[in-house]
Amino acid sequence: MVRTRFAPSPTGYLHIGGLRTALYAYLFAKKNGGKFILRIEDTDQNREVAGAVDIIISALDKAGIHYDEGPIVGGDYGPYVQSERKEIYLKYAQQLLESGDAYCCFCSKERLAEMHEKGATKYDKHCLHLSKQEVQERIARGEPYVIRQNIPKSGTHTYHDEVFGDVTVDYKDLEDNILIKSDGMPTYNFANVIDDHLMGITHCIRGVEYLMSTPKYNLLYDALGWERPVYIHLQPIMRDSQHKLSKRDGDAGFEDFLRKGFLPHAIVNYIALLGWNPKDNNEKMSMAELTDKFSIEGLQKSSSIFDETKMRWLNSLYVKEMSAEDFHAAALPYYNVYYPNKDIDYKYLSELLQSRVEVLSDIKERAAFLNAFDNFDIELFVNKKWKTTVDMARELIDDCIAATDSENTDNTDLALLTELSGLNTALEQLAERKGLKKGQVLWIYRIALTGAAATPGGGEEMVKLFGKAEALRRLNEVKKILGA
Ligand code: GLU
Repeated sequence: MVRTRFAPSPTGYLHIGGLRTALYAYLFAKKNGGKFILRIEDTDQNREVAGAVDIIISALDKAGIHYDEGPIVGGDYGPYVQSERKEIYLKYAQQLLESGDAYCCFCSKERLAEMHEKGATKYDKHCLHLSKQEVQERIARGEPYVIRQNIPKSGTHTYHDEVFGDVTVDYKDLEDNILIKSDGMPTYNFANVIDDHLMGITHCIRGVEYLMSTPKYNLLYDALGWERPVYIHLQPIMRDSQHKLSKRDGDAGFEDFLRKGFLPHAIVNYIALLGWNPKDNNEKMSMAELTDKFSIEGLQKSSSIFDETKMRWLNSLYVKEMSAEDFHAAALPYYNVYYPNKDIDYKYLSELLQSRVEVLSDIKERAAFLNAFDNFDIELFVNKKWKTTVDMARELIDDCIAATDSENTDNTDLALLTELSGLNTALEQLAERKGLKKGQVLWIYRIALTGAAATPGGGEEMVKLFGKAEALRRLNEVKKILGA
């Protein structure tokens, strides 16, 4: 059975690239009727951030990437948190010491620093040559030591990666990495092998930064007599052709995009396409469709550039297809922060905005007109295209009030009507009577109601939004401002 895993370090942040790794591992497992496992790689306790595991779990949950085994839910291959598996690693490290595939190293920080200062690029195997007896004595004396992997001095290693094909590495380019640190904790270089094997991982899907160190891991699999997993290394997501999308850009995290008003699945859908080609033109895909179409063959060998504009476009498709209720519920927090306590029909505002926002945070800008009336600028009546003037507004304002008043429907029901026919007819007749174009009258009317050059919808929509009484109050106020 196919078993894949996502193995993040708890850094307090789920990078969009990490989310994509998780997604591909999840899709591949689901497509093949397998299991997707979450494993927390917390052996570097300096990097650990409180609450970081919860952040990862909650982010995966929001993204719809549900793991079958892992922290909290458990499973047959636990524990799924590496710091709880310390004894397991030590047991296998012991086995490697016995077979000569690893050795104890007592070198001090000072010695290592000096070695590097003299130009060494890797550890010089100094402690490999200590006698068994000396090693035992020094351990008995309580000297601190690490356990290093014993990499062959010469030769090459070739293995197959599903994306990159055959990968060959010269042993002389590999270092005798530390497997177990002096505090008894394993490094990634060791723990990933032990855990992938013991957890029955069949396909190892991870970042390309591990492509060239995989031969070291293969040596460990071989030394322990274990079968290697299938390797699938993924190219990074780039900010531009030169730079990876990084945390330093300030917005490379899944939660950052949620805060910006992207919908979780729109993000997932977009990043699925960053590095994988579905081989058809349909880019908008549900999780079920992604699962159905996902294939290792579609993974790209080249890296892809993150394009927020495209993600906005994809997001807008999902926003448009939300139910009115869902959109309104999602918009409410934005109204509460930016435009609370306005005397408007908020539900109707959502109706007006739904087709006009790409991401939910656009609401701030699209609804900015709500604050415009308080700083009314009569110069807005001047419109070059329509050839309207402030004087024209002055001349029309009484008729605008009358037209609004002619809308007989009960004030509270306006937003429910598809059309305010009384108002529309009155404005049309007004244009005719004055020998003006309808567009001129409509411009003046809408400006008079809102004081904003851009509004989601025209005068009719604004009257529905404010209600008749408020619309009349505004128009009378403008009349005073115009001195009409
Ligand atoms: N903990 C590693 C990381 O966060 C995981 C690498 C892997 O998937 O093997 O980069």
